Amino acid sequence: MNSTTNKHIALISVHGDPAIEIGREEAGGQNVYVRQVGEALGKLGWQVDMFSRKVSADQETIVQHNSNCRTIRLTAGPVEFISRDHGFQYLPKFVNQLMKFQKETDVKYDLAHTNYWLSSWVGMELKKRQGTKQVHTYHSLGVIKYNTIENIPLVASQRLLVEKQVLETAERIVATSPQEQEHMRSLVSHKGNIDIIPCGTNIQKFGSVGRQAARDALNINPEAKVVLYVGRFDHRKGIETLVRAMRESKFYESKQLQLIIGGGSTPGNSDGRERDRIEAIVNELGMSECTTFPGCLSRDILPAYYAAADVCVVPSHYEPFGLVAIEAMASGTPVVASDVGGLQFTVVNEETGLLVPPQNVPAFNHAIDRILSNPAWQQELGKAAKRRVINQFSWDGVAIQLDELYTQLLQQSVRQPALASK
Ligand code: UDP
Repeated sequence: MNSTTNKHIALISVHGDPAIEIGREEAGGQNVYVRQVGEALGKLGWQVDMFSRKVSADQETIVQHNSNCRTIRLTAGPVEFISRDHGFQYLPKFVNQLMKFQKETDVKYDLAHTNYWLSSWVGMELKKRQGTKQVHTYHSLGVIKYNTIENIPLVASQRLLVEKQVLETAERIVATSPQEQEHMRSLVSHKGNIDIIPCGTNIQKFGSVGRQAARDALNINPEAKVVLYVGRFDHRKGIETLVRAMRESKFYESKQLQLIIGGGSTPGNSDGRERDRIEAIVNELGMSECTTFPGCLSRDILPAYYAAADVCVVPSHYEPFGLVAIEAMASGTPVVASDVGGLQFTVVNEETGLLVPPQNVPAFNHAIDRILSNPAWQQELGKAAKRRVINQFSWDGVAIQLDELYTQLLQQSVRQPALASK
């Protein structure tokens, strides 16, 4: 980072609070991304303020992550959980609160990195009001999401408009995979500046536990064939496909199979309803004995789950990046994933795992059984997976690329007035 540039940057994540427990409704990859990026940039010397919306009176207003990085929760709208499809109306208040915070603390953010379309609107407003430069990461594209769901929310047209505007006006868009970049270009707009900087993972943490130690710690039979899902309970995550595929597995027949479906849920909320639906399918298929639902997995216990698994499955209908895949790969566990989006970038078919058509039960069954049937090949795939993550997807590497991008953009803003005065 250049010492003449303003070191204060804002990471804006209106609905994805970087300081909360991950794995519950609407808390997943985006929360992890913002937090890891923020902390890593803090270590590189940036003063990182991560802004999110306060959703409960019990939440602290400011959470300090390291000496240079904190989460700041702004009060914008009711202090309660509001689903992202209903958050747009509170954004003007969010912008006002952020401007007020700047004034009170005497800090001005010359650059904001916004996350998801709601925050992109906040970034565009800051640009209008005070010339803040904007870097944006989508995390999900409306135009793709609305193709995969039945009930299109009322806010859809607004979202599509905002997603096009930000692509055309932000100083830089960060696509997390070449596939995402291609979708932006073909489905959103030909205009705008896009860089590809992937998501990352903690390569010290994932991969730190051996398979046997992990199985001992989790009380898993050393002989079991362990198939793991980690993530939110959301219909689009395709957990049903995995369950049905495992009912067809020859390892189910031989009673060696252990299916672990990890992730949190809240009774009555949409993730709670999806969890109940999946559990009903498990029971209906007679699989309750070989299936466990350990609930929300903390960041501390996750490495053991990945290490204990023979295969990690990511059966999403669509996935812009898919952090779970690289977390499993970093742990030396091969991945069977849907052949979609960012998973086509992270998982190298036949080298670090297998890619299969989404929602295709026989294809998932065949791919998972192929790996489970051949332990030597499973190990080879796992080793190649780990190498790929170390080479391409460490958070430190990602943070260095973002550091270079921010520095370059801020130097442009420092140079421009000088050029203008000539
Ligand atoms: N996660 C977690 N505990 C859980 C379930 C999920 O920490 O019980 C984390 C998981 O490790 C990953 C993130 O939530 O880092 C999910 O990110 P991903 O990109 O795979 O999916 P998204 O939630 O963005 O759709």
